Amino acid sequence: MGKLRILLLLFLLPSIGFQSSAQIFDQKIADYILKVEHPLSFLQKLENLGVKEIKKPGLDSTCFWLKKMLEQVGYSVKIQNFLYGNDTLRNLEFTKKGSSDSSIIIGAHYDSRGGPGVNDNGTGDFALYQIAKLMNGVKSKYTLKFLYFSGEEIDYLGSRQFVKTLNKDSVKIKFMLNLDQLGGTVGEDNTGIKCERDEISSKKAESNELAIAMAKIYSSYTNLNPIITPAYSSDYLSFRDSSYLISGIYQSSSFPYYHSQNDLLKYVEFKSLISAVQGALAFLLHFSKSEITAGTVLDTGDANCLNVYATDRGLILSVNSNYSLLIFDQMGRLKYSKFGSEIDKNVALDDFKNGVYFAYLNSNGKMVRNKFLVQH
Ligand SMILES: [Zn+2]
Repeated sequence: MGKLRILLLLFLLPSIGFQSSAQIFDQKIADYILKVEHPLSFLQKLENLGVKEIKKPGLDSTCFWLKKMLEQVGYSVKIQNFLYGNDTLRNLEFTKKGSSDSSIIIGAHYDSRGGPGVNDNGTGDFALYQIAKLMNGVKSKYTLKFLYFSGEEIDYLGSRQFVKTLNKDSVKIKFMLNLDQLGGTVGEDNTGIKCERDEISSKKAESNELAIAMAKIYSSYTNLNPIITPAYSSDYLSFRDSSYLISGIYQSSSFPYYHSQNDLLKYVEFKSLISAVQGALAFLLHFSKSEITAGTVLDTGDANCLNVYATDRGLILSVNSNYSLLIFDQMGRLKYSKFGSEIDKNVALDDFKNGVYFAYLNSNGKMVRNKFLVQH
């Protein structure tokens, strides 16, 4: 190893200067969205559950796994059963209450076609889970209604069923946000993100505004380049067709393995997935009129528990369980991401250019940030 000198700078110094072109920006939100966890363990489990098709065991086992995961982070989860021929399909519904009954619906389908569906739609399922987990402790004006839909691959069966049971008079819906295929693809250009709008119904002008607002949020809070595209072939169409306002998020790189047995973890690109989820969370923090205070954002580093130390050999992590580590440069560009376990606590910085960086260490829902300098 060459002469690597790293100086630990002050903890909790002024925050990252994200490239900021849009009017929409809140530093507390920029910090809070870094709590999004690394997707590896979630997607690994989802892949192991197999094909999520009707008459395959993976469909119900995924449903009950998701239910358990949400219950563990404090939600009570309702199952909506419905019939398709002789088979029972199940949507999952859970709610984060706001001070108003007006609701934003966030949906992702968990059924798959032809394979385990890690990209389509494990990536959207991961996004929904992270958003639900991270919104749970945050006060907001609007209520968030989360839906895991089944039967999307059979002509949007689950979402059509859900829309049928929604009582328009008693439930005030602001809009529905759809999360489908957010992963990015190994080996492809993953720098874009599609922000989708309804271009057909009477709500198209409002939907356009929503997609533009989402695009601004992606430009302000992530390194992804937003592209506005028409809503296409997923559960939001069930809502659009019943006159609800919709928008959606979709990866811009193609995923050649979808609807096949090769829809596997090894083809999913993580950095763009993490950014896609961070942007979706920022969008919902804004649009639910949430209250993020400085105290919600970071946990205090603790020498015995969770912290990042810079040494002349690289970073050393103090952590007792699985973690994710994100390193940003001063411009807020994500330079490095790692998902590790408690036995793997060293991070070499040999490949880093000279400069100031910010390390965010995230474990068990807690996060610390340290600023450090690399000087070779
Ligand atoms: Zn899909």
